[in-house]
Amino acid sequence: MARPALTTRLADALTLIITGSTTVRCLYPKCRVQVRYRNVMPSEAKRLTELALGHDRH
Ligand SMILES: [Zn+2]
Repeated sequence: MARPALTTRLADALTLIITGSTTVRCLYPKCRVQVRYRNVMPSEAKRLTELALGHDRH
């Protein structure tokens, strides 16, 4: 499974700290889909994460 570059993960961590939002990227090669959310219910966060990670769902 492909992993985002370290700089990408650092940027995500900074985004989380600064804005309180979470970014989830599709890990499919060359797929640029990403979902960002904040202040959502755990069930909604789970749904959005599955949507972002499930390449056949977007
Ligand atoms: Zn994808």
